[in-house]
Amino acid sequence: MRVVLATHNPHKAAEFQQILGDAVPGLVIVSYDGPEPIEDGVTFEENALIKARAAAAHTGLTALADDSGICVDAMGGAPGIFSARWAGRHGDAEANLRLLLDQLADLPEGARAAHFTATLALVAPDGDETVVEGVWRGRIAPDARGGHGHGYDPIFIPDGHDETAAELGPAVKNVESHRARAFAAVIPALSALVARA
Ligand code: IMP
Repeated sequence: MRVVLATHNPHKAAEFQQILGDAVPGLVIVSYDGPEPIEDGVTFEENALIKARAAAAHTGLTALADDSGICVDAMGGAPGIFSARWAGRHGDAEANLRLLLDQLADLPEGARAAHFTATLALVAPDGDETVVEGVWRGRIAPDARGGHGHGYDPIFIPDGHDETAAELGPAVKNVESHRARAFAAVIPALSALVARA
């Protein structure tokens, strides 16, 4: 059973194949090289659905897409869907986290609650749609620490820990993170698809 992953990032396709392929025997994740739609949704769910629908329509295969970001309570959920370009330029992770640290500079530890969200949309060519979400709660650290991971990992301290996600590394992240939870939540829908195929 082939499922196309609606991303041009080959690193992501490998990550999805490793985690979901292990959990759902018979599942093969293929990467997508068709046109990328404009992500003009205003929620993670809308953007994940936009990407999955486009890839399903273009390939005729069931498509999986993800959208994720970091949400700070004191900022009303921002950066949210703007996480990847919070400092103005898409993908400048260092500038993004520096700006967020500056914006929160005066807030004490108790006011720095935040969470990562990962939303996965699974869209079949017949229009059947499943959306799942994983959330990882924690707070924004006073400064950046740690060398693992990517994006906002150096400034995110997950609940139950004193270290940042970038200090904790993949052993913790692969089990506790928003993405790990979203993967776990989508497995029943993927298993059902494989069983029907
Ligand atoms: P995308 O959904 O892969 O485009 O990710 C959106 C943005 O959210 C990324 O550019 C990161 O800045 C941030 N982000 C999402 N997940 C994580 C994570 O696990 N660690 C750190 N940053 C993340």
